[in-house]
Amino acid sequence: MSKILIVEDEEAISNLIRMSLCKTGYICEQAFDGETAADLIAENSYDLILLDIMLPGIDGYELLDYIKTTEMPVIFITAMGTLDDKVKGLRAGADDYITKPFEMMELLARVETVLRRYHKSEERITIFDTVIDVPSRTVTKQGKQIMLTLKEFELLLFLVRNKNIALYRETIYENIWQNEYMGDGRTVDLHIQRLRKKLHWEDKIKTVYKVGYRLEVDIAEV
Ligand code: CA
Repeated sequence: MSKILIVEDEEAISNLIRMSLCKTGYICEQAFDGETAADLIAENSYDLILLDIMLPGIDGYELLDYIKTTEMPVIFITAMGTLDDKVKGLRAGADDYITKPFEMMELLARVETVLRRYHKSEERITIFDTVIDVPSRTVTKQGKQIMLTLKEFELLLFLVRNKNIALYRETIYENIWQNEYMGDGRTVDLHIQRLRKKLHWEDKIKTVYKVGYRLEVDIAEV
């Protein structure tokens, strides 16, 4: 599920965008000034940023310079409809722009296009009732996002990519923790337990006696 940051100081417009995007299935966060946006961008990873140019404090152009260091795609939202501003916006490195006032349908179409372009290498794995979105590191079960730690996510991916194979604790540990195995089986066990619980996969992730674990997947279930 793609996560989008809406940077727009006009609350009504921001809320309208948020509602439309949410309905379409995106996860949205809002920032109403440049300062807050910069903080959020520093601490989070977004699949896309919708960026108003005219903002109090740090404006959209300044923010864009900052965002460019993160490689997150940007769509400029601008009230200034002149060609000059559009060209300036794109030259500054935005991926697209949209001029206010706009139709929500148009915005959604542009959002989809930019996301598709960026997610060319996207890998999306569907297993049981769970969807693993690799680039955004999000996991959703029956449409509901499951919060996993980085290690839990990597462990999940490792199990899925090696489904139906009995994996030694040592193999799991060395792959996920990138460290030499020094009998750290309990670390693996703990993470497996967390993963089972969070995904309700108690009966899917099997304990293999004296070996480790195996994710059991019936071919018909994938
Ligand atoms: Ca504005």
